[in-house]
Amino acid sequence: MTAASRSEGPGNAAVAGSATMVDDRVAERLARALSCATVSTEDPVDTADPEFARLADHLEQSFPLVHAELELETFGRSRLYRWAGVEPERVSAILLAHQDVVPVDHAQQWTHPPFDGVVDEEFIWGRGAIDDKSRLIAILEAVESALAAGVRPKHTVYLAFGHDEEVFGDNGAVRMARRLRQAGVRADLLLDEGGVITEGVADGVDRPVASIMLGEKGYATVRLSVRETGGHSSMPGRQTAVGRIARAVARIQDHPMPLRMTPVIVDMLTRLREVMPEARRRLLGLAGVGLASPVITRIMAARPQTEALVRTTTAPTVIHGGVKANVLPQRAEALINFRILPGDSVTAVLEHCRKVVRDAGVRIDLVGMSSEPSRTTGPGPAFDLIARIAEAVVPGIAVTTGIVPGATDSRHYDDLAATRCNFAPIVLTQDDLATIHGTDERISRVNYARLIEFNRRLIDALAQR
Ligand SMILES: [Zn+2]
Repeated sequence: MTAASRSEGPGNAAVAGSATMVDDRVAERLARALSCATVSTEDPVDTADPEFARLADHLEQSFPLVHAELELETFGRSRLYRWAGVEPERVSAILLAHQDVVPVDHAQQWTHPPFDGVVDEEFIWGRGAIDDKSRLIAILEAVESALAAGVRPKHTVYLAFGHDEEVFGDNGAVRMARRLRQAGVRADLLLDEGGVITEGVADGVDRPVASIMLGEKGYATVRLSVRETGGHSSMPGRQTAVGRIARAVARIQDHPMPLRMTPVIVDMLTRLREVMPEARRRLLGLAGVGLASPVITRIMAARPQTEALVRTTTAPTVIHGGVKANVLPQRAEALINFRILPGDSVTAVLEHCRKVVRDAGVRIDLVGMSSEPSRTTGPGPAFDLIARIAEAVVPGIAVTTGIVPGATDSRHYDDLAATRCNFAPIVLTQDDLATIHGTDERISRVNYARLIEFNRRLIDALAQR
């Protein structure tokens, strides 16, 4: 797809709102941040530290009032800012964003090089333009402008900008959250990435849908492995290590974890149903079938996007074994990635695998990072505030809830706030969503203006409360 054909996408023009396009100066400040290749990799030797240092310099030069008036504590390259309120002992909000980005796979396929920080009339291009530097810089733009206007929050506000979200946050978010916990912080609102406003994604809803997520799924990777003696392939015996692993993978894939409706998904559907056309609404149980009914759960399970909301998903992602066509393999293994629904657990996933594989010769263990699904809060007053501001910034949207299918830094802060919301008021199409962690990540100037305005309105609301 060319840049020209993409620019006709409805994500940028079809939705009128109070935010307009950002000017060149503001766009360039984001572009400079995108030009810092703050790439997180799981290899600890492979560090982008000089790039993080460059980003830190850029932040300090671009937002002088923030750096003069807020307290800053660093944890490695992570940055925790404290903006003392008029009543400093109470905390209204913890605003999260992350400085790191995922690596680029096929840089030559990008319209503009991913770390050049290119700005054109419509977009700001680069890895991190959506995930998550636009949110990071937008928060700072909003705080800087609030400080310039003499605004001060009623209660204390924290900004926590991690440096290792894409590799699970152990050195950044975990340490910042621990510091807040030690300080006895209990905020009204925890706000992070996760949900956006989508167009043409929610089936049967003709308005843009804002998904203000209230929690996230858990994460686990299970390794299946088989060791055999090997030998010549002319006398293989009943099954080889490769055959055995293949059978175990097939069993796990054929026996997914059970479908289950959770309260947050019922809430999400209830809100969506209100904005659906009559015929759709009837399908979703207007005539008395509850949204928690098995019928609705089965409808959800028919498509991968909605199935992920009603069960722990199973994705075999890696398989290897064997070295040569005429040699019996001595070792074979497979990795299965699970995204765990609230109510299930990492242990339950492991038990499920053991139960369905039913082969004592297949070793089953957990590898890499894992996390339990978050607790999900009900949509309280802080949620209503976020929804109201989103509606003001992007008029005509439908607001719903949901859970984030991936893992975000906010899981480390879960216990520190009464309400946790994962949301940014940017309007994206299905194609736009594919650029996150993919090729040609970019944010429109209109969406970026929405992000800044949203954060500024949030700060104003926190000043008045
Ligand atoms: Zn992210």
